[in-house]
Amino acid sequence: MSQRLSDHVDGARLWARHMELARFGARADGGVDRPTLSAIEGEARAQVIAWGRAIGLKPFTDAAANLFLRYEGQDSSLAPVVAGSHIDSQPTGGKFDGVFGVLAALEAVEAMAAAGRRPLRSVEVVAWTNEEGSRFAPGMTGSDLFTGTKELDKVLPIRDADGVTIGEAVAAILAGDVAVPQRPFGFSIAAYVEPHIEQASVLEAAGIPLGVVTGIQGTRRYRIRVTGEAAHAGTALRRDRKDAMMAAVRMIQAMDEAAMEPDDTLITVGMMKVTPNAPSVVPAEVFFSVDLRHPDNAVVDRVDGEIRAIVERYKGPCAVELQQIQHSPSLNFAPSVRAAIAAAAAARGIRHMDVYSAAGHDARQLHYVCPAGMIFVPCRGGISHNPDEWAEPEHLTAGAQVLADVVWDLASRA
Ligand SMILES: [Zn+2]
Repeated sequence: MSQRLSDHVDGARLWARHMELARFGARADGGVDRPTLSAIEGEARAQVIAWGRAIGLKPFTDAAANLFLRYEGQDSSLAPVVAGSHIDSQPTGGKFDGVFGVLAALEAVEAMAAAGRRPLRSVEVVAWTNEEGSRFAPGMTGSDLFTGTKELDKVLPIRDADGVTIGEAVAAILAGDVAVPQRPFGFSIAAYVEPHIEQASVLEAAGIPLGVVTGIQGTRRYRIRVTGEAAHAGTALRRDRKDAMMAAVRMIQAMDEAAMEPDDTLITVGMMKVTPNAPSVVPAEVFFSVDLRHPDNAVVDRVDGEIRAIVERYKGPCAVELQQIQHSPSLNFAPSVRAAIAAAAAARGIRHMDVYSAAGHDARQLHYVCPAGMIFVPCRGGISHNPDEWAEPEHLTAGAQVLADVVWDLASRA
């Protein structure tokens, strides 16, 4: 075919749709607050379905309220190529995180419809449920359930801060879907491609508009509970105290030191609850989080061993309980998908480079069930999860053009 599919990508429409979707949950400061499975996300979802229906895409959903829009291929019996991301946001979110992946995938299919071309395989646009994990923790609910990483009956009872369960929220969204049939989880997928803003500044610093994502760095998350004994700050002697705070502080200090090398090892203690949290009472309990990340599994595993030893070494007279709540090993995306992305960028003359993803994405879950890959576009200052999140229209267009040609390429393979 002499003309590339990407010639039919409409950058102005792609940009306009980002601005339109940003109205659902718009914040006064220009950001977006669109919690997963909320009424406002339901309205955004209806808009995406309407855009799809306007070009004949068939919407489908499932028991997690994942949204799929299907463009029928020549042989509908073949496993589809799936592309997309998510449309939920953090409470202080921006206009592009997740949304770009869904709208770029929709634009790729728009290009096929505009060109009047059908690939061999069907192509599906996807918006996964609860990627962000801010209303219901942890995130990646939709892709976890789809890929069988988690089971529905374990996930549906999880509650938000208001006591609403995922099950109730999913039911509310599905009730609002008009004539959207449900399918079972886990149908086979030929390949998965997720475009996303980089959420870091490697591309921007290099002045390169497109990243071929090589993989996602590993993460371990823990919750640690140090239990001591409440006592009077003035009368309890030092030797008699079971001070949960002092023990926790020594642990955190030692963990930070254990993670100093190599210097791209990231350790974060972002949450701490002190009981009784009173200025004149020796703390009876400290409950804190630890988030550990590095691209090399060997580094993550070494620091993991040290964290486990540290809590025992520094607990003193207190009791300590360590619970690992997440372990996502670092991964490398499928060479076939990475090569297809690099080839499509090169063919269009779009400068590209390999980049690593420091953040997790739904593509992690999909990686374990099909060849998967990601396309990054720059975002200003690397800022995201922030109302100031910004991506240049021409970068979004370039990302969507590359996606269109990649999806066409992958969907044309027998
Ligand atoms: Zn995202």
